[in-house]
Parts: sequence; structure tokens; C-alpha cells
Amino acid sequence: MEYVLGHQGRLYKEADGEVYAPRPALAAEQIDETYPVAPELELVLSREEPGPGYTRVDLRAELSMAEEAHFSRLARAAQIAVWHDQHRFCGRCGARSKRAAGELAKRCPECELVVYPRISPCIIVLVTDGDRCLLAHNTRFPEGRYSTLAGFIEAGETAEAAVAREIMEEVGVEVTNIRYAHSQAWPFPHSLMLGFYADYAGGEICPDGEEIDLAGWFTADDLPQLPPTFTISRQLIEGFLNR
Ligand SMILES: [Zn+2]
Repeated sequence: MEYVLGHQGRLYKEADGEVYAPRPALAAEQIDETYPVAPELELVLSREEPGPGYTRVDLRAELSMAEEAHFSRLARAAQIAVWHDQHRFCGRCGARSKRAAGELAKRCPECELVVYPRISPCIIVLVTDGDRCLLAHNTRFPEGRYSTLAGFIEAGETAEAAVAREIMEEVGVEVTNIRYAHSQAWPFPHSLMLGFYADYAGGEICPDGEEIDLAGWFTADDLPQLPPTFTISRQLIEGFLNR
């Protein structure tokens, strides 16, 4: 059995060590809770901040180097650690919640409310028109970096409706032929990115000026700086370029 160490929603590793350690580094009384991450991998949540022999895992850097299986296990461990940290008490009655038996959940010992790790579905979409694709610069991006459009799915909304709405809100164009491609767990802190392609149907590109400050059409021989290869946004763009 291997272990990954967490505290207050963050993951830690031994300084200069691997993320997964061969045995728990803590005494039983120092452990807040443990959760299964994968066969032979457990998340051990420490009551105390790990000492000077430990360093925080840089999740983004770690995921950028990860193979698919490692990516998925690390995303899961990170999301469970955040969920545990943010759901210490029952949201209905305020009692301290406890890990449920037999499933990955917390059950309130007073009112029996069950809560599962929080997952926030988002859409992420590449709009295309013939041999050109629509890429946008988010105000939070480094200068020169362009990506696909993305946004959270709202309560009661379908993923397809969210795709059309987000595109209209962020860049003001209409789309058609919205089709699902693939998804990626995105543990910042608990998103599930649902990747789509959509065909341009009309309208002039008009960035909303808040989230998106620049947007335009790009072709394969005229691409801006793109997101890192491990991201679903980059995978959607590569999928279009290699179609
Ligand atoms: Zn309760």
C-alpha cells in the first residue's frame, strides 16, 4: 500500500521525495481521516501541518508531468482532500460529520445527511469554422496565451445549453452542431471539464471585456501561444488541428 499525505485541503510530499510514499509517515493519533484513492493507494489526512521534512505538492506542476493514471489518481486525491477540509460539519444541522461506511461519503451522525465529494461540472469548447478556430485570451492568462472558451454549468442547465450560453456571453457568437469530445478531471479545486466542439453559426466576435479581453480566429499556420499539453483545452485544439 502507498500513501499520499494531505492537510487542510493540500497535498504534501517528503522534501525531494515522490508524491506517493511507501508507508504512512504519521502516528495513529496524528491522522484525521483516511480515504481510498485507488487500489493500493490511500489518502492520509494529517491533523497537524506536516513538519519541515515535507513540502507542499505543486499540483499544477505535478499534473503537467503526469501520465494519465497518475494524473487521475492525483486529481482524485486532491479533490478528496479539499472536500474533507470543506465539509467538516453537516450543512443541514451543523453536527461534526463522519466518514460513511462502505462508500466515499460523509454521513451526519445527527440527521443522517450524506454528502459526496463535490464535483463542479464545467464546459470547455473549441468553436471552429472551416480551417479556423476561435481562441480567446482570458484576463487571468499570461500575455499572449490563448485558449478555448470555458465556464461552469448552472443549476438546471444541460451541458449543451451551457456551451451555447458561455460562447454567447464571452464572445457574442452563435454556434450549432455542439458535440461532446471527452472530459478531464480538473482539481482546481473540484471541476470536471466536459470538452466539446461547436460549429460557428453567425455573429461578430465581441469579447465580454471582463473574463475575455481578446478573441479571434486562428488557423494551423498562424497559432498564438497555447495552453500546456496536459490540459483538455490543448487536447481539443490538437484534435482539431490533427483532424
Ligand atoms: Zn446533520
